[in-house]
Amino acid sequence: MSRRSEFRSVEEMLAFDREHIWHPYSSVVNPPPVFPVAGASGTHIQLEDGRILIDAMASWWSVIHGYGHPQINRALHDQIDNMAHVMFGGLTHRPAVELATRLVDITPDPLDVVFFADSGSVAVEVAIKMAIQYWAARGQPTRQRLMTVRGGYHGDTFGAMAVCDPVTGMHGLFADVLPQHVFAERPAIAFNENWYEDAFENIEQTLKEHHAEIAAVIIEPIVQGAGGMWFYHPEYLRKLRALCNELGTLLIFDEIATGFGRSGKLFACEHANVVPDIMCLGKALTGGYMSLAATLASADVATSISHGEPGVFMHGPTFMANPLACAAATASIDLLVESDWQSNIDRIEKLLQTNLAPCNELPEVRNVRTLGAIGVVELERAVDMHRIPQQFVARGVWVRPFGRLVYVMPPYVISNTELTTVTDAIASVLSDPPLL
Ligand code: PMP
Repeated sequence: MSRRSEFRSVEEMLAFDREHIWHPYSSVVNPPPVFPVAGASGTHIQLEDGRILIDAMASWWSVIHGYGHPQINRALHDQIDNMAHVMFGGLTHRPAVELATRLVDITPDPLDVVFFADSGSVAVEVAIKMAIQYWAARGQPTRQRLMTVRGGYHGDTFGAMAVCDPVTGMHGLFADVLPQHVFAERPAIAFNENWYEDAFENIEQTLKEHHAEIAAVIIEPIVQGAGGMWFYHPEYLRKLRALCNELGTLLIFDEIATGFGRSGKLFACEHANVVPDIMCLGKALTGGYMSLAATLASADVATSISHGEPGVFMHGPTFMANPLACAAATASIDLLVESDWQSNIDRIEKLLQTNLAPCNELPEVRNVRTLGAIGVVELERAVDMHRIPQQFVARGVWVRPFGRLVYVMPPYVISNTELTTVTDAIASVLSDPPLL
């Protein structure tokens, strides 16, 4: 792996990083350690000091095929030699159209119209704007609020923050400047528990009470990600779809984390066999190569918006449908659908279930759960982010917990041996409470 740097040493580079660069959710006065990466290949992240880590995070759900996949690399080389970028206002291009055909094809009907966005958060902003414009166009401009559930996470921009859980969604500080939306309780029944009807009562009452002012319900289907890594019962979504139909409310599924196979279905909504009116995709869309997201809408939503005032959908970012990102996404989707991804996910799920189960016996552990290629060990207390990443790096794996959650979501190509090294490392770190 080659590397070019004007810094004489890694220490010098790290010193600059510490003083001048924000990392996600970090401090510049007391920054937690960051590990300098020299390169990444397949399921491996190579550090500057030569150590190799097995990647259990897929760079936050996105690198599903592993790093540096030859097919995606080739697609990007071909595309950059032809055109890195061109504006999307008034112009179009093959990479965008090729990608849109695939998205329309693989997502459930009637999601037929694609808006390309820059990141997951922006895709959520776009979905919210679509819902509000839809109702304005349909002569109900007072429907401007969103409804969602506690425990959700939808991104870091203002519109998205306003539908994150006010406590676990990491944005409590901004509560007073965010639009006030309507929250129902978190879906209570776990994915594989028995369903009971009372579990839908709270959201049903809440939506019935507020529906005249609600433009859409937005929810992460089946898997609540960064708001708590919680897997809930598919019946909840079936009932929610029926309720939205009954009350005439739009339904937005945020599949940014779950899309492209992660939960064991190509899209998590397939666990419940229901389809939203608007769906947000991101993260694994480009196989983790570049920032790209998409908001898909039903033809009804798209045409209603277009028939209303001002006759257009009001959004259009500079880098919309960047051809490089589209080319990476098309290559990634082709790789996925042509692979036996389903048996890979089943294999990972079984191994995670077996290998993480013993963690249930540890005193610091509250709950262990797995779904698809996601494994979660929930602790009794939050981990120390200044200490715990080192513990995993010392064991040759890249696991980055947050709060009380130690979780893994590896690239789908991780081998059983590598995944066992990861789960052994988790068991070893969690067995020693002073390390946490
Ligand atoms: N929605 C969900 C469900 C997410 O998990 C995330 C990212 N963690 C986002 C939206 C925001 O995506 P991005 O970080 O690309 O803005």
